Amino acid sequence: MIIAVDGPAAAGKGTLARALARHYNLHFLDTGALYRMVGLSVLAAGGDPHDGKAALKAAETLRPDRIRDEDLRSEAVGEAASVVAVNPQVRTALLGFQRAFARKQPGAVLDGRDIGTVVCPDAQAKIFVTASAEVRARRRHAELAERGAAPDFAAVLADIQARDERDRSRAHAPLIPAADAYVLDSSALSREEALAKAIAYVETRKAG
Ligand code: C5P
Repeated sequence: MIIAVDGPAAAGKGTLARALARHYNLHFLDTGALYRMVGLSVLAAGGDPHDGKAALKAAETLRPDRIRDEDLRSEAVGEAASVVAVNPQVRTALLGFQRAFARKQPGAVLDGRDIGTVVCPDAQAKIFVTASAEVRARRRHAELAERGAAPDFAAVLADIQARDERDRSRAHAPLIPAADAYVLDSSALSREEALAKAIAYVETRKAG
């Protein structure tokens, strides 16, 4: 079984996807971490994420087994990730790893922006998690504050809106729900409520 979980920044995809993987005993891949690794690698080498050559080199030499979450979570790395993600060659370079991961037995949950549309268009279950920009900014703000940063709320909201705009308007694999996705608006839901709704949907797909 493959479960695709897509949606905009800070919608709660990662938390939901991890919980689904645990519930169904499936492998889990945070595909945003791959783009973040590419962005981080360009920044660490003193490069510019807009430089297509540098981004492609970083994507082609990526070691996905070396994902270390704590280096990847800053807003600067998220921003760099969304810039390198516009590049179609970077996207292609990361596709093989994601598809091979999705084929692992007994199945996998992948979260990202284009899992249901491009990476795994045949996924048995596709969930598009969304929430208003204000709710997402509030969650991201709390998350950053918890990690010791003291971010300005308006700046976090502006970052989220800029990232949404870049992800939605790019020509290749833009952020849009797959035609057959279940759209889950988590704005007014607790984590537990969102998980319960997602499981109820997956059960209907398993039965079908
Ligand atoms: O999900 P996360 O915020 O970690 O993703 C960082 C960036 O990577 C996103 O803003 C998006 O531009 C890009 N991304 C993507 N396709 C995916 C996952 C992430 O373009 N499947």
